[in-house]
Amino acid sequence: MLNVNETTYDVPRQVVEAIAEQVRTAAQGLNRYPDREFTALRHKLAGFLTRESGVELGADQIWAANGSNEVMQHILQAFAGPGRSVMSFPPTYSMYPLYARGVNSEYIAGTRSRDFTQTPEDVAAQIREHRPHVVILCSPNNPTGIALDLSVVEAAYRAAAESETIVVVDEAYGEFRQPDSDSALTLLADRPRLIVTRTMSKAFAMAGGRLGYLAASPAVTDALRLVRLPYHLSAITQAAAGAALDHAQNLMANVERIKAQRDRIVDQLSRMGLSPYPSDANFVFFGGLDDAAAAWQHLLDEGILVRDVGIAHHLRVTAGTEEETTGFLNSLSSYLNR
Ligand code: PMP
Repeated sequence: MLNVNETTYDVPRQVVEAIAEQVRTAAQGLNRYPDREFTALRHKLAGFLTRESGVELGADQIWAANGSNEVMQHILQAFAGPGRSVMSFPPTYSMYPLYARGVNSEYIAGTRSRDFTQTPEDVAAQIREHRPHVVILCSPNNPTGIALDLSVVEAAYRAAAESETIVVVDEAYGEFRQPDSDSALTLLADRPRLIVTRTMSKAFAMAGGRLGYLAASPAVTDALRLVRLPYHLSAITQAAAGAALDHAQNLMANVERIKAQRDRIVDQLSRMGLSPYPSDANFVFFGGLDDAAAAWQHLLDEGILVRDVGIAHHLRVTAGTEEETTGFLNSLSSYLNR
């Protein structure tokens, strides 16, 4: 299954053991409600982000929920809502319009260049034109894999400040970025309306654990306390996520392996005459297919499930293990030479 951008490696045995031990301890206290402030987990998340991005972050700047889906819902409940608007730039993560609809906000679809990139001038102009209450930038973007240059985020923020718009940068795939890309976390200082969201679903191989989080100014995390339901993060979730964070280094070793396969896919697809986009994520978006639906079916018939995102001549494939990548490349090659 190379269609939903999970980590296809099994959770490492050591991490499984650590999670089981922490969950066992948490189980002994399940007669009590969990720590509603998830204090220990917020400290661990702040520590991880500080190590990962080089930006010093405090636990009061961290918020978490059951997946970044719920984090985004909290953001929109607090800062959007009825009579307000949410803007993003398709093709991008398909849930954004649905989150907006879920809080009765108007959804505004911005536009991108023909090659799916975004320039600082164009993003700023669109924000000035629409003056949304919340704007969501996705970097690296799903489905294209392209990361935003931080000049785009800076320009978006400057334009957004004129209408007191909240700027969210969805970095669900942030840990997979190329060595020359910086996280928008580096822009947080002095930007009180900037929010950077992350998830443990991808790099941490914890899609089933449901833990998404964000970093922002303490005033933002305070506002989110108003909309969360009481005790929204179970003691089991807090324990499992905390244990995985204790083993972040181990898990990040797989991130490096996945990045190598991602780069290999881009390289090999180019050699096959296809048009892969540069990727800062754990997946590759590529064009140049005569018939994307036929290619998708050929791969499926050989047991390989990738994603047809509905853009003609294009498909998206998750970078998995070396064997999975080899299987995908061989199958696509046999389709092209049929
Ligand atoms: N943002 C983006 C860009 C995604 O691709 C995804 C998952 N596909 C999510 C957010 C949500 O992830 P989760 O709720 O598992 O954290």
